Amino acid sequence: MSRPATAPGRLRVIWEPGSDVLVGVCHCGAEHRSEDPASIWRWLLSHPDHGSDTR
Ligand SMILES: [Zn+2]
Repeated sequence: MSRPATAPGRLRVIWEPGSDVLVGVCHCGAEHRSEDPASIWRWLLSHPDHGSDTR
């Protein structure tokens, strides 16, 4: 049996005040910005492959 290595409880999605942008923060410290929540979650759940988007 294989399980996803990512625990959803350690992921955060923050709304950036003053804008329509959401910031997803992974448990590995990587961040990703998008206006689309679905896109944020897809990025978070792709954890091993996303790397760091903002640096
Ligand atoms: Zn990650």
